Amino acid sequence: MSQNHEPLLAVNAIDVMYGRLALVLKSLSLNVPHRGVVALLGANGAGKTTALKAIANLLRSERGEVTKGTIYYDGARIDHRDPSELASLGLSLVMEGRHCFSTLSVEENLRIGAFSRRDGHHAIASSLDRIYAMFPRLKERRRSAAGLLSGGEQQMCVIGRALMARPRMVLLDEPSMGLAPMLVEDIFRSIKRLNDDEDMTFLIAEQNASIALRYATHGYLIENGRVVRDGTAATLMATSEIRTSYLGLSGEGSRDHLVASLPRSRRRWLS
Ligand code: ATP
Repeated sequence: MSQNHEPLLAVNAIDVMYGRLALVLKSLSLNVPHRGVVALLGANGAGKTTALKAIANLLRSERGEVTKGTIYYDGARIDHRDPSELASLGLSLVMEGRHCFSTLSVEENLRIGAFSRRDGHHAIASSLDRIYAMFPRLKERRRSAAGLLSGGEQQMCVIGRALMARPRMVLLDEPSMGLAPMLVEDIFRSIKRLNDDEDMTFLIAEQNASIALRYATHGYLIENGRVVRDGTAATLMATSEIRTSYLGLSGEGSRDHLVASLPRSRRRWLS
C-alpha cells in the first residue's frame, strides 16, 4: 500500500475570471485524497462547475482563466496542461448535461471512451461488461441510437463512457441532475463500488447535499465562489447552515439528534 500522504488533487487558492471581468472563484482551495470521495456542494451559480472546469483546464473556450493560485495532480502542477494530456494522466471530467453522440449506438458511445486504452480487446470487453452490470438499462438499450435514450439513460451513458477510459480520478458534475431518486441512488452506489473495488477517486459537484454527503467522506460548501465550510461528511451534515439551507432540516444538533428528528421511514437514508 502506498505511503503517499500528499493529496491526489490539490487546488491552492485559485481565482477564476470570465472575460477578464467577472471574478467567479475567489481564492478557492480544496484537497482530494488518493482514493477519496469528496463532495463540492453549493447552490445554483455558486461556482461548482467552474471549479471542475478550472481543474480540467476547460475554461479557455468560455474566455475564462485561472488568474491566481495553483493546481496539483499527483504531485505535478497541472494548471496549464492540455485537457488531452490530463486525460492521459487519468483525470476525467463528466459534465452535467448529456453529451452522448446521438447518432451512434450506446455501445459505440461506450467504446469511444476506451479509444486511448492499449490494454487489448479482452480488457476493454470486460470493462464493457462491468458498465453493463452497473447500468443494466444500458445493456438493454445497447444497440439504440444514444439520441433516443431518456435523459437518465443518457446520463448513465455519459458516465459509462468516462469510466471506459479507466480513469484514476473522475470529476463529476451534478450526477443527480434530472434523474429519478432511485437512479440517483444507483449512480452513487456505483461510485462507491468503483471507489471500493477499483480505488477510483472522485470529486463530485452536487446541489443534492443529502445524497452527496451520504456517499462522500469529505465535503466543501461553496457560496459565491468561496469555500465557506469544509470537513468530514458527518461534520457537515450536523452543521446547522447545511441542515437548514441544503438538507431542508431545521435547528442545531448532533447527527443522532438529526436522525431522531426524522420520521422512522426516512431514518434509513441517513444511517
Ligand atoms: P449550477 O449548479 O447552476 O450549474 P454552479 O455552482 O455550477 O451552478 P457555475 O456554473 O460555475 O456555478 O457558475 C458560477 C458563476 O459563474 C455564475 O454566476 C455564472 O453565471 C458565472 N458563469 C458561468 N459560466 C460563465 C461564462 N462562460 N461566462 C461568464 N460567467 C459565467
